[in-house]
Amino acid sequence: MNPLDLARPEIRALQPYSSARMEARGAAVMLNANESPWPPFGSDADWNRYPDPQPQALIGRLAELYGVEPGQLLAGRGSDEGIDLLVRAFCAAGRDAILVSPPTFGMYAVSARVQGAGVIEAPLREDFSLDVEAIVAAATPAVKLVFVCVPNNPTGAGVPREAILRLADSLRGRALVVVDEAYVEFVDPAGECASVADCIGKRENLVVLRTLSKAWALAGARVGTLLADARVVALLRKIMPPYPLPTPGVDAALRALSQAGERAMHERVDVTLRERARMRDALVQLAGVREVLPSQANFLTVRFHDAGTVLDALLAAGVVVRDVRRYPMLGDALRFTLGTHGENDRVLQALGANANALPSVRGQAAAVLPA
Ligand SMILES: *Cc1c(COP(=O)(O)O)cnc(C)c1O
Repeated sequence: MNPLDLARPEIRALQPYSSARMEARGAAVMLNANESPWPPFGSDADWNRYPDPQPQALIGRLAELYGVEPGQLLAGRGSDEGIDLLVRAFCAAGRDAILVSPPTFGMYAVSARVQGAGVIEAPLREDFSLDVEAIVAAATPAVKLVFVCVPNNPTGAGVPREAILRLADSLRGRALVVVDEAYVEFVDPAGECASVADCIGKRENLVVLRTLSKAWALAGARVGTLLADARVVALLRKIMPPYPLPTPGVDAALRALSQAGERAMHERVDVTLRERARMRDALVQLAGVREVLPSQANFLTVRFHDAGTVLDALLAAGVVVRDVRRYPMLGDALRFTLGTHGENDRVLQALGANANALPSVRGQAAAVLPA
């Protein structure tokens, strides 16, 4: 099966824009792109030049990191760009649709609505697990893309690889299954919910989104990667803007992706996992807490008896967390990103956690939670 049979025919037929940098680069005298011949004021970097559309060094390193061929990879401005490109290439306005399982990341539906595509929902089960059978049943012929977020934002729940692959197999020839692995670095790589990036090349309707925005600490650089069948990657490159990756962001990404950078990333992930366990243990003991959802990501979503009061108390203490009460099934919940040890202590302090469990803030705890 050719996954492009699911794409918009007019995009398959499109003759893409050919930029100056695509046609020629690397000569001694570069006069083909109307660039300034001088570096920008205050810098000796080559930012006066248009960037390579897919810089080889970055693509090579990302391919090695994610275990795919360079042709199975597209780097862009965050995973948000990958989501947008997929929706524009595969969903015709007024005809096609995406499928999501709420409560989940909101960008999938926003991208679809901007494109004029439909949004079909197959909600998570009551225990926040993915309902594969419900998704397959809800996937009408209009559905071209099924988005699955693993671990899911905003619940933090993982999805077993077996379930993702079963979903991809069930929808083969009908829809692409797009697995958003923005938080997968925080998942046990030997566990059942580990990345499915190794299955790219084995299932032509599988797409994986990875990002440097979370565990790699580069949200400001805007670098995300889409992994897919090489034919899908080639199609998306046709509709991508000619110069998607700013040079300073690429340089920052290459530094972070060095061997030393990768070690630092793993060390910080370990710190975050310890903080996740510590915060979870502390939060479940608070009287106002209804439930701390099990999380495989770098955040904890917590259901409260009175989330509004908690939000106000946190704000008064100078702490902003994410109000996720607008999501279905989470009408009483707030999402706490795990910060540094000290930042997390401030959260517990603001929530009036048991001072004995909090040596660094002993004596400062003030009870703000209604019982
Ligand atoms: C944060 C996040 C991303 C990352 O988006 P970028 O555009 O790469 O910064 C992607 N998906 C989900 C679910 C996220 O929470």
